[in-house]
Amino acid sequence: MTTTKKIALVTGANKGLGKEISRQLGQQGYYVLLAARDESLGKQAADELRATGMEVAPIKLDVTNPDHIASAVHFVTTTFGRLDLLVNNAGIALEWDGSGTSVEKIRKTLEVNVIAPYALTEAFMPLLEKSADARVIHQSSMLGSIGEVEKSWPHVKNFVSPGYSMSKAALNMLSLIQGNNFGAKGVLVAAAHPGWVKTDLGSDAAPMEVGDGAKTVVNLATMPRETFPNATLSHMGARLPW
Ligand code: NDP
Repeated sequence: MTTTKKIALVTGANKGLGKEISRQLGQQGYYVLLAARDESLGKQAADELRATGMEVAPIKLDVTNPDHIASAVHFVTTTFGRLDLLVNNAGIALEWDGSGTSVEKIRKTLEVNVIAPYALTEAFMPLLEKSADARVIHQSSMLGSIGEVEKSWPHVKNFVSPGYSMSKAALNMLSLIQGNNFGAKGVLVAAAHPGWVKTDLGSDAAPMEVGDGAKTVVNLATMPRETFPNATLSHMGARLPW
């Protein structure tokens, strides 16, 4: 398929921030590949966005499943031959269900929140290298910023849990490494903190709506390449400490 639109793939996009990021990218003229692990929920979200006039296609993608990743890469290769934007948004916070931390929860959290973004970026790299403006944005969190958590401990201690914060701290390090390593390939990489946002993960207690929560990623995706804050963690245009 030939399209002059930029091609974006957003993971965990059937709801929450991923769906809203997909909506805002679609509004800005991207062709959005809306990735979801549940095929019917992905199709439902894609249909809803398409009904508003944007170009959106669902992709079945459990980010921890190597076969799904291979199929997604095959689909994008044969359909578009390139990828302009990869948003690693899918994430879990298993410890926030009130039952605390366990080794098994930590393992699963690391698998989804940081190993999968690594695997996806590696798998899509040949397609990203074919883009004239390739970007990878990792949806991270202030709760993975060692500097912020150290500084704000009394305010954040009730939100910090080992598995989730370790996973986002590791994702931040991945962003620093990839941002520096992939420059030569023309692929920009940065980490985003969306804010504390009303979603299933963020809960109703969060102060921000998804429309604003999506903006950090969407701004990173759409800002001029020259001003892209490569290899950083940022929120709404302001840099956060690692
Ligand atoms: P939601 O719980 O609303 O959405 C999470 C999404 O990730 C869902 O689509 C979920 O799919 C998907 N997902 C989970 N596991 C997998 C998997 N194995 N494969 C594919 N998709 C998966 O959360 P948010 O929208 O709030 O979170 C999005 C991202 O933003 C996360 O990375 C989160 O850590 C980050 N974030 C959110 C904040 C907030 O305040 N909301 C604050 C800081 C960071 P399914 O519906 O099938 O479960």
